[in-house]
Amino acid sequence: MTQKKSFGKRGLTKKSENISQWYNDLILRSKLADYSEVKGSMIIRPDGYALWEKVQSILDQWFKEDGVKNCYFPLLIPYYLFKKEKDHLKGFSPELAVVTHAGGEKLAEPYVLRPTSETIMYKTFANWIHSHRDLPLKINQWCNVVRWEKRTYPFLRTTEFLWQEGHTVHQTEEEAVEMTLKALDWYQKFYEEYFAISVYAGIKSDQEKFAGAKTTYSIELVIPNGKALQAATSHNLSDNFAKVFNITFLDNQEKKRHPFQTSWGLSTRSIGGLVLVHGDDSGLIIPPKIADPQIVIIALSDKQEKQVKIIQAYAAKIHQNLEEQGFKVILDLDFRHSLGYRINEWELKCVPLRLEIGQNEIKDKKIKFVRRDDFTKGFIAENKLASEVGKILDNIQKDIFIKSEKIKNDLTIEVEDYQEFKKIVKDRKVFIRAGWCENEKCENKIKEETKLTTRVLEMQRIKEKPKGKCIICHQPAKHKWLFAQSY
Ligand SMILES: [Zn+2]
Repeated sequence: MTQKKSFGKRGLTKKSENISQWYNDLILRSKLADYSEVKGSMIIRPDGYALWEKVQSILDQWFKEDGVKNCYFPLLIPYYLFKKEKDHLKGFSPELAVVTHAGGEKLAEPYVLRPTSETIMYKTFANWIHSHRDLPLKINQWCNVVRWEKRTYPFLRTTEFLWQEGHTVHQTEEEAVEMTLKALDWYQKFYEEYFAISVYAGIKSDQEKFAGAKTTYSIELVIPNGKALQAATSHNLSDNFAKVFNITFLDNQEKKRHPFQTSWGLSTRSIGGLVLVHGDDSGLIIPPKIADPQIVIIALSDKQEKQVKIIQAYAAKIHQNLEEQGFKVILDLDFRHSLGYRINEWELKCVPLRLEIGQNEIKDKKIKFVRRDDFTKGFIAENKLASEVGKILDNIQKDIFIKSEKIKNDLTIEVEDYQEFKKIVKDRKVFIRAGWCENEKCENKIKEETKLTTRVLEMQRIKEKPKGKCIICHQPAKHKWLFAQSY
């Protein structure tokens, strides 16, 4: 990530030719992020951070409506605390950054830079929770986490990243399961309704679940190159951590019991997913529901100074009208640059809808529009501008969702036989849906031979009656699982 890049004419490699290069170019060229002096860590620039703030504002509102409260725990976690839950330690060990020196001295007890906060939070929860009246406890924190990564990509995998981590404690396991699924639903709704991305939501295999969890649920994105991006997770921790950290409460019979817990998170990786799924050779495509601005009005230049003034005033009036109707609008009066240059810049910056205003538009009382997603052009009568603009923005949101759903479906292939499985993934990367006995040995064989891992058992297939055989061992399959290579 520290390597410097040079750009071509438009600054972008073609997405279809080299998606990784295209992605890196686009992230830099559109000023979402920049490389930093710290290997594997990126700088989130204002345009990228604005997207993250949008993510935060949507999710934060849903969390609060459900009674989840925000808080903040320390970045440094004492190593002895981290070691308490054995699976958790084993799962995170390869990625831990440990502070051994501070204040000019070697520390008696090292600290871990938080890769996730279960351990430090739950140590504290043991002091906060005594009675059933203290439950449920629902908290969330927006923070940074550090996971030492060998191969990094901006937003998708960086050593330090931003996320939210929700943590809840309940009297019963049923309540905890309900909460785990509610968080998963929030994430699915967020991706589908706001990011306009069709996703797979489901359960992770035992081998792929969160270290220390009983069950992990995940949102998986299908990237247009056929790889998978784990885009949010929600864990049912059962009473595993409660036992380790000695969290207990007196139930209404005055009986001492361990409570049940959940944790769930979504990170800045979501922005990488958004770019990968919707972006094209001209730049980013941002869904209108999260775009700011949603509309750019380009006032066209004119040879006559007098005409320019008229155009400018007219464009300002349209700008004001649309803003009053609640649209997020920006007015471009940059007459110094050519129209082509101005259009390129706005396309790269992904404003969903462009309006152009010149002499003809004023004369005909019709305004030219161009959609960013598919470059459809047309004219809107001035007296119907607000309602028509609203319709176009809704259509963009719908159309890019449908497009992402088509990508997902086209890149998912159901197979009955392992030879067919291997033949398909030898030629290209796709999601494969296939019968599996749910034994780790078969999962490992697939991983070793094809690099594909289990992604999820889709939610709607959990209750499906098993039919068919495991493609590896030919024992009866428990379910049909999705396999894909991780991005
Ligand atoms: Zn098997």
